[in-house]
Amino acid sequence: MNGVFSGTQVDSGVKCLDLNTILTAIRVLKILMPALFVDVVIPLAVKDTYTYQVPSHFEKQIKFGIRLEVPFGKKKLYSGLAIKLHHNKPTYPTRMILSVIDEEPVITTIQLDLWQWMSSYYLCDLGEVMFAAMPSKLKLQSETRITPGKLLDDHIFELNDQEYMVAEAVSIQKEITIDQIRSILDIKTVYPIIRKLLELEVIEVYEELDDHFKPKTVTAVRLCPAYQVGGEYQKDIFELVKNSDHQTRAMLAIIQQYKQGRYISQADVVRQADVTHSVISALEKKGIIERYEETISRLPDFADELEDIDQLSDEQKSIIDEIGKIEAIEKPVLLHGVTGSGKTRIYVELIINTLAKGKQVLYLLPEIALTTQIVQRLMKVLGDHLMVYHSRINDNARVEVWQKVLGFPKVVLAARSGILLPFSDLGLIIVDEEHDPSYKQDEPNPRYQARDSAIVLAARHRALIVLGSATPSVESFYNAHRGKYHYLSLSERFGKIKMPEILLIDMKKGSITGHLSADLVEEMKVMKAEGFQTILFQNRRGFAPILMCSVCGWTAACKNCDTSLTYHQYSSQMRCHFCSYYESPAIVCPACGNHELTLKGFGTEMIEDEVKILLPDFNVGRMDLDTARGKKQLEKLIYEFEIGQIDVLIGTQMISKGLDFEKVGLVGIISADHLLHFPDFRAAERAFQLMTQVAGRSGRKHRQGRVLIQALHVSHPVLSEVIQGNYTGFYNREIGERRSFGFPPFSRMIVITTKHVHAAKTNTAAENISQYLRQRLGTRVSAAVKPSIARIRNRYLCLVVIKLEKKAALILQTKQWINEAVLLVRKQKGFSTLQVSINVDP
Ligand code: ADP
Ligand code: ZN
Ligand code: ZN
Repeated sequence: MNGVFSGTQVDSGVKCLDLNTILTAIRVLKILMPALFVDVVIPLAVKDTYTYQVPSHFEKQIKFGIRLEVPFGKKKLYSGLAIKLHHNKPTYPTRMILSVIDEEPVITTIQLDLWQWMSSYYLCDLGEVMFAAMPSKLKLQSETRITPGKLLDDHIFELNDQEYMVAEAVSIQKEITIDQIRSILDIKTVYPIIRKLLELEVIEVYEELDDHFKPKTVTAVRLCPAYQVGGEYQKDIFELVKNSDHQTRAMLAIIQQYKQGRYISQADVVRQADVTHSVISALEKKGIIERYEETISRLPDFADELEDIDQLSDEQKSIIDEIGKIEAIEKPVLLHGVTGSGKTRIYVELIINTLAKGKQVLYLLPEIALTTQIVQRLMKVLGDHLMVYHSRINDNARVEVWQKVLGFPKVVLAARSGILLPFSDLGLIIVDEEHDPSYKQDEPNPRYQARDSAIVLAARHRALIVLGSATPSVESFYNAHRGKYHYLSLSERFGKIKMPEILLIDMKKGSITGHLSADLVEEMKVMKAEGFQTILFQNRRGFAPILMCSVCGWTAACKNCDTSLTYHQYSSQMRCHFCSYYESPAIVCPACGNHELTLKGFGTEMIEDEVKILLPDFNVGRMDLDTARGKKQLEKLIYEFEIGQIDVLIGTQMISKGLDFEKVGLVGIISADHLLHFPDFRAAERAFQLMTQVAGRSGRKHRQGRVLIQALHVSHPVLSEVIQGNYTGFYNREIGERRSFGFPPFSRMIVITTKHVHAAKTNTAAENISQYLRQRLGTRVSAAVKPSIARIRNRYLCLVVIKLEKKAALILQTKQWINEAVLLVRKQKGFSTLQVSINVDP
């Protein structure tokens, strides 16, 4: 081609003809080999996929499931997932992909299939599912992103209001953008705050697209090839170092580790041989050893701690046999076993059987239960087959789990987001505590129910799925009852330990100090005297939920939300439990100047106070979001309670989740009334589950436990059902009510929430949506209604509730209408900042 394009020769007719011929040839070739396009999912709430053109030099590298760097919007870059290659040129002008990030796929086809199911079932964008699924280090974008810093937990209480709000948001969301901080704080100049938080290492900031996962490495040493032959080191090696005491010690340490067959870290050698790094350098200079960087895992290594597994009891054996028969038929199994019946041992057996077949296991648990005992229990028997995945592990470790799951048979113990991982060959899914509300993600999109999605995932893998609970959800029991699930039950505790004896205490009668009945206090004393512990359950944190003026009725309320502020004695603050607003408690009434302000209601802090006054020689612990927000704090509390340092543990529903303490003899439920009177169709179900689960913490190992339930409204039917351990009675009554009011499982519910800074716009939007849908669906759609808390974080809320018969075609059509209705409302002038969330199966 020499000279073809050089100006001096363009006037040569022959050469011009040459060029034209070449161009024509290229055009012909292009028609014969049409351009390649790729559909890409971008981790954003945008339409499902975007089509990009593939430059010819990338064509060979592109395949399903790898990440590509693509331009999006005016100047942003993203890493999107390639999900389909084709030659169909879109009608709109396409842009080129910029680079290919991966050589091998980072997702699987079944995983994408589940994401697509979730996006259509839960009415959200595929990009939102991808965003929720992928560890941040795998979804790159050219945007300043803020993540939790090393010292976030240490400094959180020294921050001012604005800094606290940012730190809290980062801590909850794990990663936020500058724009999100602007909107949280509602100010433009956020950089001074970001700078301060950076200095304190409360946050970290990063910006480049290519700042992706970095494997962890250590400096290691190995023998040079000349000194190891056939995997054996040369004995004469010590001749070379005999003149140096230090070098001999170092070589001894190296050889000792060499024999164990693992990598030899330089730091270990230095420590064991008590030598300096210069000794290692000297050995390297002599050509005996060499240094290199060994890639190591961030995931903990449990290989050495394996313990023998308990023999299965006869009941457990027969359950395993039953499940063995079921496997072939592929229906979910509902394992209904009372608290302490030994369900965990059954799961372990199923896991071992699955691993033996070379398949993977996903074991789902409510988030909070994951940081605790169960992890240790399973590690002891499964060793390094076990990986843990939840929101409290760091992002690099998440990437490692992700990569391992892509290729190896392993057991992943995970919170709800575990269903989004790239399993290559799942053989078993366990959903433990399947009734737990935390399996449902309410905020943000995808608003999915992980138990239900796990059933879909299991079907795609043709895997066995076991839902386990002592108090199955009404939906699951209904499915079992109708034969959609296999039902298996364990009605006795392991080792024939009796179920706890439950007594009701009428708080309108008898002697009561503060919120504790004389009976409860008396029994706590007996427990301590006999070497047993007590758990007190009060499902509200803080000291008191209301501060009120006794003259004019003023109450301390949040500036940003329509809620009262809770008094927290420990921090001496009035705090909002919906946003992060807090202030100091008022001393005089700001409305009328009265000096007598009174506290109404009570939370865990007040109970802690009362116990300390009534029982001064008791060691009291408290477990709620204020004392156990971090993993470390929670583990410490559990440990102290386990070893008997704490006599009484007071807690919110955190203490109901799967904890197994040997020495708990008594459980006190301080106020059953709090649980029973909630404006939610699931209130009775939740109350039954919570009370039964909390009661189940009592008397698990040594002797029959006792439970005292304090209540004002003692005739509520749920109370007698809990006391008698009568799940069936509870279920029959509850399912009757659900049927008469058309609640799930007899209908599919969808709740649409509009949010806007102006109340009027919120209402108009909800009214319009309701109207649009009512024209099509009639009374299945509610009018626009205000929720019990009508303003949160300065945004007004309004709801439209839809109840549909369970007919697939109707549901599908409705989802389409919902999308239309939302689009129409958004298009109206002045509604561009309207937020609409859609919650399917709330
Ligand atoms: P669940 O999960 O049903 O509440 P657990 O699995 O926690 O019940 O079992 C209750 C108690 O019984 C635990 O302390 C557990 O160690 C013990 N246990 C269960 N199965 C066995 C077994 N086969 N051999 C010995 N101990 C067992
Ligand atoms: Zn007043
Ligand atoms: Zn608030």
